[in-house]
Amino acid sequence: MRTDYLKIPFQKVKKEDLEASDCVLYQAAWEASSRAYAPYSHFCVGAAVRLLNGEIITGCNQENAAYPSGLCAERVALFSAGAAYPDVPVECLAVIAQSGGVVKDSIAPCGACCQVMLETEVRSHRPLRILLCGNESVRILDSVSFLLPFSFDAKDLE
Ligand SMILES: [Zn+2]
Repeated sequence: MRTDYLKIPFQKVKKEDLEASDCVLYQAAWEASSRAYAPYSHFCVGAAVRLLNGEIITGCNQENAAYPSGLCAERVALFSAGAAYPDVPVECLAVIAQSGGVVKDSIAPCGACCQVMLETEVRSHRPLRILLCGNESVRILDSVSFLLPFSFDAKDLE
């Protein structure tokens, strides 16, 4: 039996070294996190997606007393983008979290959000860049597939 290993390529960039367009997305995600409805966890997450047409759509987590009824920031943003611009590919997604007004170190999307991000990437026929934003640095992945290497998508249903 042989053990294989995966390497996941990503760049870690200082916040101040982000490209201008990524800086805008970082800021949009940050502002969205301030609008989170998170009365139970107090963990406020913001996401921002940039579409190929330049539009930026944001989302923040929406909690509910009946916990499973809420939704993560990433999916709020992606579903909003899909509802408003169903035929426009999503180019990049930034996600950031704060607790008590302090930015947490970069967080990774949950499995369900990764799955939706993967569907978005497949649907767009182009890689979806991911910015995992922290207080001082940002981890950049050039494709959702790096977050979900053994994935299930439409081709598995054929
Ligand atoms: Zn999630």
